[in-house]
Amino acid sequence: MIVTNWGKYPKTDAVIESFDSELKAKEFIDSHQALITRGLGRCYGDSSLSEVILSSLNYNHFLDFDKESGVLRCEAGISLAEILEAFVKRGFFLPVTPGTKFVTVGGAIASDVHGKNHHKEKSFGSHVIEIKLMLSDGSIVTCSKEKNSDLFFATIGGMGLTGIILEATFKLKKIESSYIKQETIKAYNLEEIMEYFEQSQDYTYSVAWIDCLSSGKNLGRSILMRGEHALEYELATTNTFSLKQKRKLNVPIDLPEFLLNPYSVRAFNELYFSKAKKGLSKSIIDYDTFFYPLDSIHNWNRIYGPKGFLQYQFVLPKQSSKEGLQVILTKIAQSNQGSFLAVLKLFGKQDSLISFPMEGYTLALDFPISKNVFELLDYLDAIVLDYQGRFYFTKDARLKKEAFIKGYPNIEKFLEIKNTYDPKHKFSSLQSKRILGI
Ligand SMILES: Cc1cc2nc3c(=O)[nH]c(=O)nc-3n(C[C@H](O)[C@H](O)[C@H](O)COP(=O)(O)OP(=O)(O)OC[C@H]3O[C@@H](n4cnc5c(N)ncnc54)[C@H](O)[C@@H]3O)c2cc1C
Repeated sequence: MIVTNWGKYPKTDAVIESFDSELKAKEFIDSHQALITRGLGRCYGDSSLSEVILSSLNYNHFLDFDKESGVLRCEAGISLAEILEAFVKRGFFLPVTPGTKFVTVGGAIASDVHGKNHHKEKSFGSHVIEIKLMLSDGSIVTCSKEKNSDLFFATIGGMGLTGIILEATFKLKKIESSYIKQETIKAYNLEEIMEYFEQSQDYTYSVAWIDCLSSGKNLGRSILMRGEHALEYELATTNTFSLKQKRKLNVPIDLPEFLLNPYSVRAFNELYFSKAKKGLSKSIIDYDTFFYPLDSIHNWNRIYGPKGFLQYQFVLPKQSSKEGLQVILTKIAQSNQGSFLAVLKLFGKQDSLISFPMEGYTLALDFPISKNVFELLDYLDAIVLDYQGRFYFTKDARLKKEAFIKGYPNIEKFLEIKNTYDPKHKFSSLQSKRILGI
């Protein structure tokens, strides 16, 4: 069958099966030469694509929960949405969440996803206590910071290349309500938005929408959103864990390509920016609205049309972020291929083997597939590397090997661990073939 991930590019013809027991997963491994595990396919490109795919979606049970400590053990195919559904009402929230809740625990660990709280609370993997992993020979190992630690650190951010994550144990955080106290601030240029990020370091969550078509004195104009979990006494309601049922919109079909063009993107950006109130405004909103605005529109990826789109996410070290972002945003504005969705975040420090985050600013942009976009992104790759940045695997569908490797100084160590535990390269994706040659 034809399988694609969220960006709908690339498309691949694959055999896809799912497992609901360790035995089935082992049988699948034994009967195929190469495969990759797939969760909800919310990576954008080809990280969870290959000719043979093993879906984790039927391996999705809660196994254990300690209500005192918040430590949860579950199977890897369970989604963050299911965790929120079960635990928010009990006063617990995810330690880290990406911008969609429709990802599995296995996918969150394999990509070591980050959220709006990276500057304070690091990435998902930093909250993982233990992983149960099936290796290429079908054996099962438990790994943690103390036990089989090489495998543990290579699996976090390892894009499914070390084995099948079967189970994970991690700590949920305690909350007093399902609401977020949100503050939004309008910034008129890059300098201002970076200043607001720096001033917001004590806030748990921060993120900015950035208008990547604006240029000149408006280059980098943005809207910062920062937030905290609301405490019980701060709410007008006594129903602190309620969640309003909202009607979800749906994009029923792939929209025609001509609808999304430089003019419509510019018009959207203009409207979005001018609609925001000047200065700082405050509100209390439910967690779904704060963390997952895009999840309220089913199949929003169809707005990019049948050819799909690429998400381009990079991070630059803090010291080179301002200059690098100026150069990149100028190039994008000149190219007239502005992204409909552009998100800026500030990462904190993180030491990890192979995960994406490093201290600095990260920008994520969507580009519809077009004949010019590959050339533009090759050009941007060179700028990112000039400023000592790196790219996010889970958003990628087109990077070249040299561009990828340059940004990840621990790649040799990762490959050493991979070769020890998976010498025949059984776990392999279209992406790993393209950028690692395995
Ligand atoms: C709207 C949207 C917003 C997003 N926002 C963010 C964000 O803010 N921050 C962020 O970091 N990411 C973000 N992402 C990316 C997303 O969080 C990651 O791609 C995540 O890994 C997807 O999980 P999944 O279950 O869909 O896994 P898939 O997309 O199916 O797979 C992703 C990777 O995980 C591996 N994998 C999956 N399950 C297992 C398993 N059980 N064992 C071993 N390997 C496995 C796959 O092989 C692949 O390499 C966003 C994606 C979307 C669509």
